[in-house]
Amino acid sequence: MNKPRALVVGMGIGGLATALRLHDVGWESVLVERAPERRGAGYFVAMFGSGTSAAERLGVLDTIGDRTSPGAITYDVERDGRRRPGMGYGDVPGAPRLLLRGDIESALYNEVAPLADLFDSVHQVVMPSWHTDRVVLVGDSAWCVTLYSGMGASSAIAGADLLGTVLQRNPGNPGRALREWEMRLRPFIATHQELGRQELVTFIPQTRRDKRTRTIMQTLLGNPTGKRVMQRILAPKFRPKAIDVAAA
Ligand SMILES: Cc1cc2nc3c(=O)[nH]c(=O)nc-3n(C[C@H](O)[C@H](O)[C@H](O)COP(=O)(O)OP(=O)(O)OC[C@H]3O[C@@H](n4cnc5c(N)ncnc54)[C@H](O)[C@@H]3O)c2cc1C
Repeated sequence: MNKPRALVVGMGIGGLATALRLHDVGWESVLVERAPERRGAGYFVAMFGSGTSAAERLGVLDTIGDRTSPGAITYDVERDGRRRPGMGYGDVPGAPRLLLRGDIESALYNEVAPLADLFDSVHQVVMPSWHTDRVVLVGDSAWCVTLYSGMGASSAIAGADLLGTVLQRNPGNPGRALREWEMRLRPFIATHQELGRQELVTFIPQTRRDKRTRTIMQTLLGNPTGKRVMQRILAPKFRPKAIDVAAA
C-alpha cells in the first residue's frame, strides 16, 4: 500500500516536528522552506511541560538539551545602560527548560534530515479554522500565541505530536482526524492566547501601575523568601503550561 504523503510548508519547529511525527505514524513528508539557509541559534526561548512531553515522545528531548543554569540572573537594562535584577523564565514555576530557539530546531532537523534582530512588532494570529480539506496549519501560522505567552515552541511541537496521533487513529480519514485535532487543541491554544495577551503588560508595562507592579515583583524576586512567595502566587497561572495536550 502506498504511504500517505504530506506537503509540509516551512521548516521551523512546527514544520519539522510535524514531518517527524508523521514519519512515526507511517507518512511520507515533502518539506519546503523559503529561506535560502537555515537560521542559527536565534533568540532565547523557554520550553514548558507541554513541549518537553511532546519532545520526549518524538525522541528529541535529550538532543534539545537544557541551558538552564541554577545561578543565572535575568537583568532589566535601562535606556542609560544601568541594569538591575529582573524577572526571567528561570524564576517562574514549572521549571521550564531555558534554550535557544535553534536548539529545538536543530534537534528536530537532525532527526528529520536523514528521513527525507528581534521582531520589531508582535502579532497574535487568531483564525476561525486551522484546516481545510487536507491542508493544515501548525504552529505560529495557525495560532501564534506570541512571545509574551512563552508557549509558541511548546505549542508548535505539541500540535505536531497530536496531529500524528489523530492521523494514525483515523486511517484514510484525514477530515475526521483534523476535526478531532482542532477540537482537542483549540481550548488549550485559546488559554495560551489569552495568557499571552495578559502577559503583555509584564513584558512591556503600559501604565505607571503596570510599572509599579513589575518593580514590586522584581523586588520580591531579589530575595529567596520573596521569590518563594512570588512562585506560589504565580503557580496557578503557569499550570496550563505543563498540560500534556498531545498525550495519546
Ligand atoms: C523574541 C522571541 C521570544 C520567544 N520566546 C519563546 C519562549 O520563551 N517559549 C516559546 O515556547 N516560544 C517562544 N517564542 C515563539 C517561538 O519561537 C515560535 O512560536 C516557534 O518557533 C514557532 O514555530 P513555527 O515552526 O510555527 O514557525 P517558524 O519558526 O516561524 O517557522 C516557519 C518556517 O516556515 C518558513 N516559511 C514561511 N512561509 C513559507 C512559504 N510560503 N514557503 C516555504 N516556507 C515558508 C519560514 O521561513 C520558517 O522557516 C518566542 C519568539 C520570539 C520572537
